[in-house]
Amino acid sequence: MIIVLLGPPGAGKGTQSKQLVKHFGIRHLSTGDMLREVRQQNTPLAMEIAEYIDSGRLVPDDLIMKLVENRLAQPDCQHGCLLDGVPRTLAQARILDDLFRRCGWVLDHVIALDASPADLVDRLLGRAKVEGRTDDTPETIQRRMEVYERETAPLLDYYCGKGLLRKVSAMGTLEEVSRRILAATGGEPQGSGR
Ligand code: AMP
Repeated sequence: MIIVLLGPPGAGKGTQSKQLVKHFGIRHLSTGDMLREVRQQNTPLAMEIAEYIDSGRLVPDDLIMKLVENRLAQPDCQHGCLLDGVPRTLAQARILDDLFRRCGWVLDHVIALDASPADLVDRLLGRAKVEGRTDDTPETIQRRMEVYERETAPLLDYYCGKGLLRKVSAMGTLEEVSRRILAATGGEPQGSGR
């Protein structure tokens, strides 16, 4: 089973992903986590990535998709995975489609978490106090929201056109949102036969 979880910053993609991968027994592939791991290293690439993340801009498509392709080739992803934070641009979505086609894999579900920008900004500012993420400052949050609207929101139409998109309200408790997502996916780990 392959699931893509879309949503603006602060919609709870990371938290919901953790629930979903447990339920379906698939891998959690978070590009944000992968990039934060690379940035820990003392390399020119780590410094370049830190600049993108801290300014709220997207890492270039070819760089992120190389990381994703390598990760998807690992044995632990062969039973399915949940993509959290990717694709974030139409170019990434097309690269991913091409990758799936070459591998003979089927994208089962695209879930789009939905919430009002004002609620999301409040959540992110709250998260900044708890987690201390370097990109949860007011200016960067604003930039990430703009980038989401410009680069990522067009993916909703893209996946809607393919008949894969399910919109789910991100408001409510963790359990309520989880239940909505499970209902939208059919709730059972069946589908692609992968
Ligand atoms: P996230 O943890 O998903 O909110 O991602 C944190 C930051 O990592 C984003 O604001 C981007 O700078 C970068 N990032 C994560 N995923 C991607 C992606 N698919 N494409 C480009 N940049 C990404």
